[in-house]
Amino acid sequence: MNKIEKNINGIKNLSISVIGLGRSGVAIARLANYLGSKVFISDNSSSDSIKVNLHSLESMGIKGEIGGCSDKIYTCDLMVISPGIPADSPIIIESQKRGIRIIGEIEFASLFTNSPIIGVTGSNGKSTTVHALFEMCQSEDIHGVLAGNIGLAFSDKVLEELHNPDPKRVYILEISSFQMEFIENFHPHISIFLNISPDHLDRHKTFKNYLNAKLRLAENQTENDCVIYNADDKILIKALKTHTAKKITFSPNYSENSIYSINNSNIINKECAKLTHLKNIGLPGQHNIYNLLAAASGAHCLGISDIKIAEVMQSFKGIPHRLESITKIDGIEYINDSKATNIDAVKVAIKSYEKPIILILGGLAKGNDFAELLQYKNKIKYIIAYGTAKEMIYKELSSTFEVSKIELLQDAVKLSYHKADNGEIVLLSPGCASFDQFKNFEDRGIKFTQWVRELEK
Ligand code: ADP
Repeated sequence: MNKIEKNINGIKNLSISVIGLGRSGVAIARLANYLGSKVFISDNSSSDSIKVNLHSLESMGIKGEIGGCSDKIYTCDLMVISPGIPADSPIIIESQKRGIRIIGEIEFASLFTNSPIIGVTGSNGKSTTVHALFEMCQSEDIHGVLAGNIGLAFSDKVLEELHNPDPKRVYILEISSFQMEFIENFHPHISIFLNISPDHLDRHKTFKNYLNAKLRLAENQTENDCVIYNADDKILIKALKTHTAKKITFSPNYSENSIYSINNSNIINKECAKLTHLKNIGLPGQHNIYNLLAAASGAHCLGISDIKIAEVMQSFKGIPHRLESITKIDGIEYINDSKATNIDAVKVAIKSYEKPIILILGGLAKGNDFAELLQYKNKIKYIIAYGTAKEMIYKELSSTFEVSKIELLQDAVKLSYHKADNGEIVLLSPGCASFDQFKNFEDRGIKFTQWVRELEK
């Protein structure tokens, strides 16, 4: 019996508690139910979307509770948790006390597939990189399937595979630090580490914890696997130095372990053959060159040709809410970078443009250091600080920049129009989470775009 058959047999008739009724939780419940487990799902919230999710599971015969958790969740053989549940939450602590085995969604789904997995992690650039990699990994021999932190649950994709097996399938998973907190044997064949800078310190408490959570992506990799990492990130170099997997690095500068590099503004391979000139690349900013080189290295390891890789480097236009140019009004370009929820992302956004910037910062602060933006005195013309973080931003930046404090993003957009002149850029790169005024960063980006469009009228 192979590993998958054993796991499938092992889970039949087990009692499984699933914690969280969001996208991941629903997908875990569906997969476990399909495999014959007795599923009970629980969520603290009773919002409309949670109610709808429970209702859809109940129609499949899955039982659950919302608006709080009862002791029922502890009568199980296995607990599978959504990435939104922190490791120090009362449910986890109580379950650990009772000796219940707890695993996360990624570990759970990986038990039921033998297809190769590429896991991509880092503080910034994950979504951009996995989307580029996904496009590169569409060939006769490789059928890339995207899942993970991008909003497509891995469990849903594995269930799809159980229905329609495909020997050419390769999973491309965007992996967040939260998703690695409860793994046991999860084992990507290729791991990609893009960069590391402080983020999510509200949940991980210290940078060390955050780094260690990210590094767990490579924890079960062996000498038969590959770890691909940024050759210019000192923290990653140090952290991965002694790893036994085959090491591949990426950087615009040549390094011994890299497959691609840049010479005379051309992206070249190890044999110095040209893939493309930098001017043909559709994405702005040096950081996106790193992202494309990372994706290219991963695709190369799977046997994708340089021709296909070069094609995608030229055609890939990025994804919404990341340095997305919306429109020009009276010569002022409006850019939606709503996904920039930490300071490092704001820094790369600022570096991507030569023109004077009216920067809209704010939202819900995540413990980041806005003072890191003081070095961009020559690039930022004006700062508009909005939302709950506005006081903190004002305190840290108003000694160097002109800063306005405004409550609502909608009013910040109106003000930006008055502050900007022909030939300048209005950049929403908030450096904060969105939840004080929006459902999520997508909602913030969509509303921002809508309010910018209203300026056109
Ligand atoms: P993630 O999925 O890791 O959040 P995204 O691709 O969604 O990454 O990009 C998030 C933000 O980070 C965007 O504002 C984007 O411009 C910025 N960014 C993208 N790639 C990088 C990178 N390699 N280094 C720093 N910032 C980046």
